[in-house]
Amino acid sequence: MRFPLALTAKIARHIIKHKMLRTPRFALVLQLEPLHTCNLTCTGCGRIREYSTSLKDMMTLEDCLASAEECEAPMVSICGGEPLIYPKIEELVAGLLDQGRIVYVCTNAMFMRKKMRDYLAGVYAPALEPTLAKLLAEKLISDKDVETIRKGKSDARPAIKPSKWMYWNVHIDGLEYTHDLIVEREGVFKECVEAIRMAKILGYQVATNTTVYKETKVKEIEEMFEFFSSLEVDGHTISPGYEYDAAKKDMVKRLHKQPEDFFLTRKMTREKFAKIQEWGERFTIFGTPVYQEFLAGKRELTCTAWAIPTRNIKGWKAPCYLMTDGHYPRYQEMLDKVDWNKYGVVDGVARDPRCENCMVHCGYDPSGALGTNFQRGDNWKNFKYNFWPKPKPYYEGRKVTAFNGVSVGKGHLAQAKAAINTGLAGAKSAFQNNGGDGHAAGSCGSGDTSLGDELLAKSEGAKGEKSRQE
Ligand code: SF4
Ligand code: SF4
Repeated sequence: MRFPLALTAKIARHIIKHKMLRTPRFALVLQLEPLHTCNLTCTGCGRIREYSTSLKDMMTLEDCLASAEECEAPMVSICGGEPLIYPKIEELVAGLLDQGRIVYVCTNAMFMRKKMRDYLAGVYAPALEPTLAKLLAEKLISDKDVETIRKGKSDARPAIKPSKWMYWNVHIDGLEYTHDLIVEREGVFKECVEAIRMAKILGYQVATNTTVYKETKVKEIEEMFEFFSSLEVDGHTISPGYEYDAAKKDMVKRLHKQPEDFFLTRKMTREKFAKIQEWGERFTIFGTPVYQEFLAGKRELTCTAWAIPTRNIKGWKAPCYLMTDGHYPRYQEMLDKVDWNKYGVVDGVARDPRCENCMVHCGYDPSGALGTNFQRGDNWKNFKYNFWPKPKPYYEGRKVTAFNGVSVGKGHLAQAKAAINTGLAGAKSAFQNNGGDGHAAGSCGSGDTSLGDELLAKSEGAKGEKSRQE
């Protein structure tokens, strides 16, 4: 099965219950943003830009847990910001698991190994020595780490431990070169890979979460899946990057750029995702085959953004993860007060111009699961996709040159930044101004890729120039 039976059954029960009760709208996945602070400043991240005035604020643990109870979503995706910075992340994960939720911790992975070391310290016993030896041999922990782990945990706080109800959901936007450019820090991809390897040794479930941009090459997406499949990750989510409203306004105002120069239109998304169904056969891609058909341009779907609501410090964000027309204190109030007929694209016609190019998973994947645009055979397709044996790890993926950037000595970010510093004044000032609040899409961001594209373009230019000189 692509998704473990107990988890599939839990979601199916939830849908059937609400169908029988004829509930018009209900939540499937809660996107919980306990804070918007992040340790990275990814290019173009809409989250930090939109909430730049409340970066230091955070939801209380009680508020987070109450939000999950309030909307009753069987699945909670803890995002942000970087959720591993949230001071009570362990208690939050434990509390959500106690509530019986399926929990995704959407992370840029920079603190994942630390959290797993904390877990090891909490459960340390001599029987753990072979595991420590393996981690040490694989250079995933140091001798000093081993000493600390052997001392045990110094507090009584819970740790994030492996569970069949929990996934690490690691933000990966390409192979090393692309990913580190987008997150604007060298070494992040390498850390992601090491964290994933350590997690798999310790028995955690791991998924990757990828946003596809205009600049993302289809071949690279395939190679990325092949590589991470060889590491035995448990699944992948993938979604098109989209002209995030907050980021689009910022781009026009500050960079004097036209959004269509950077963002995926519907047409471009369909071209990029033309092979999504083939990927779904080869790799464990989460989501419904109906949504995959939609991405590949084979059918239309109606947006069901209310099924993946976002809750953050300001309240329930409406209408969706991407656009903000208001925040509501209660989920039900948001459901009742928002005129949902104003949003989405129906039969190719945008009800709201801001929705025109949106095909993101948080708007349309639930439509596939809920049968919103039901066609004969959909139930069988969804059933088959979930219940048939999941694709085997693709061990040939070990041959992919995943480390195609800084770890092979190219120092691409320095090169890209130098190119910008000597190049476009607008891009330079935008990049510098953006130091604390620019962000790229991913598990958490999703949206404005303009500055990333600028960096990529400059970097490509710099590489070309260098090879011409050589
Ligand atoms: S997109 Fe990057 S900067 Fe934004 S929240 Fe995620 S990891 Fe942080
Ligand atoms: S189509 Fe739906 S998910 Fe996309 S921007 Fe519009 S309301 Fe949000």
